[in-house]
Amino acid sequence: MSIKEEIKTKKVKVTKRYCDICSKTACKSDYRGSVCVICKRDVCCDHAYYEEIVGDCYDTYCTQCWEIGEGFRELMDKIEKSSDEKIENLRKIWEKKCLKNREEWEKKNQKIE
Ligand SMILES: [Zn+2]
Ligand SMILES: [Zn+2]
Repeated sequence: MSIKEEIKTKKVKVTKRYCDICSKTACKSDYRGSVCVICKRDVCCDHAYYEEIVGDCYDTYCTQCWEIGEGFRELMDKIEKSSDEKIENLRKIWEKKCLKNREEWEKKNQKIE
């Protein structure tokens, strides 16, 4: 009896998500979350900012939303214990700004293409 070795290669379909900001780099979707919690764009490692919430829990922000939120976060830190409502309002304004930024950014990008 002769034994033949046969190597079989399985075809595996791989879906890759690409960064919505630079559109070149693939997102590491297995690495925490790679979707911005505010504008919902997919982001690569270069365009993601991970904020530790508790322990090993992270929130992902795109770099644009994170930058927009800089001043907001400072304010939120200051009023942290005094009023949840104020923080929520600031968060809402921050998110609104981010969504507007995304819209404008997308318009700008379309023109270049
Ligand atoms: Zn990117
Ligand atoms: Zn974002």
